[in-house]
Amino acid sequence: MTQFTKNPYFGLFTKQKANQFNIAQSTYNERVKKLNALRRAIEITYREQIKEALSKDLGKPIIESELSEIYQILSDIRYVKKHLHKWMRKQKVQTPLSLLGSSSYYIYEPKGVCLIISPWNFPFNLTFGPLISAIAAGNTAIIKPSEMTPNSSALMAKIIDDLFDEDEIALIEGEVETSTQLLELPFNHIFFTGSPNVGKIVMTAAAKNLASVTLELGGKSPTVIDESANIKEAAKKIVWGKFLNAGQICVAPDYILIQESVKTQFIDACLNWIEHFYSKNPETSNAFARIVTPKHYKRLMAHLENAKSLDAKFILEGEHNEDSKYIAPTVVTDLSHDSKLLNEEIFGPIMPIISFNELEEAIDCINSKERPLALYIYSKSKTNINKVISNTRAGGTCVNNNIIHYANHNLPFGGTNNSGIGKSHGFFGFKAFSNERAVIKQHFFGATEFLFPPYNDFKEKMAK
Ligand code: NAD
Repeated sequence: MTQFTKNPYFGLFTKQKANQFNIAQSTYNERVKKLNALRRAIEITYREQIKEALSKDLGKPIIESELSEIYQILSDIRYVKKHLHKWMRKQKVQTPLSLLGSSSYYIYEPKGVCLIISPWNFPFNLTFGPLISAIAAGNTAIIKPSEMTPNSSALMAKIIDDLFDEDEIALIEGEVETSTQLLELPFNHIFFTGSPNVGKIVMTAAAKNLASVTLELGGKSPTVIDESANIKEAAKKIVWGKFLNAGQICVAPDYILIQESVKTQFIDACLNWIEHFYSKNPETSNAFARIVTPKHYKRLMAHLENAKSLDAKFILEGEHNEDSKYIAPTVVTDLSHDSKLLNEEIFGPIMPIISFNELEEAIDCINSKERPLALYIYSKSKTNINKVISNTRAGGTCVNNNIIHYANHNLPFGGTNNSGIGKSHGFFGFKAFSNERAVIKQHFFGATEFLFPPYNDFKEKMAK
């Protein structure tokens, strides 16, 4: 441990390490008490301040803050409280005849001292979500939220400081350097939510201490629409999913693959829904968010310039405003395969549409890219739905909808390879922060006698 003494967070880490077994031995009731305190803070004490912080940081509409941040956290806590007792129980398993006289079980024991690093797009939900799992599983945790949403991270720091002692849960605000310093420490588990590039940095740092990781990453989530789909309904759901939080959602439908025969109908329906949801001038709509930082605004504008330079066709291109970081909903077709919009995660209010004739073309396009966090299919054909699912890989899938799989706590949430490693939510989140410890208990002696040397009378021993 001496190699860490110069690390500014080593003192805090050491306090949590010393306290980890006290926290690990907390009972169901004690863990629920902590979750209830967090629930009260979110639901009552800080509810208005949370919405205010989100509005300042992201221009997030009040209803979206209620639904995608506050409601999500509260329902997560409710679900965990309902099931935690069962998850904390000893899980008995059978013992083979060859180990006669023993009984076997495994327990979910806390991993220990955990690090949670979170992104900016749903600052509260994506910080408190993993924290709920960490608390439920009986861990201590140090949290590092994103520096991009300073009002939200300052408020979360206050909430954590109000509710917990730092030797149990602490929140440290800071930029990349803070993350880097924290990542040097020998945490037992690191739960990271963010981009695939930073995910690789986190995993490399974790490898130095052989810390286990959960990586909740991003990528390009495709949407496939075939000609059997209800196009008007599909367009409605996709416009909602694409432009929610101005497209800054890890499971947003990144690009659309649509069968050529229904392309025009789909585009018309999208344009109608965009106007219906956000009016003719989305800049004045109270349902449309802003881009998080000038850096991300410039990144998205560069994507649009790049598409233009490669002769993409802009079906809808509204106003943009650098001062307010506003980019209107944008719809683009006829994109070159080299365009950035088809090669980098968009994370903004831009919808690229690619058409296909045969379903295999859509499948090939998906498989030519990194494995996505989500894949969406709109179709009435069971054959086509099964074909897409069985010939691709993705963290999660919705059929005839998008994003909603995130809200079912019974489902595992997470990616695969480039879109993530490990799962979260509900039991899967509890499991991510737990070590499954196998225990075998021998009740009388002699049952494993045959294992001991000398081996020349092995057959006789086995016969006894
Ligand atoms: P990011 O990877 O840039 O940052 C995430 C966190 O990592 C922040 O706290 C940041 O301070 C820290 N960080 C940044 N650079 C670092 C470095 N070099 N070393 C150590 N730490 C570093 O991601 P973001 O921009 O905050 O979020 C957007 C990305 O997150 C998108 O790719 C999106 O798809 C993904 N995401 C995934 C999920 C999910 O649940 N799978 C949810 C939300 C966002």
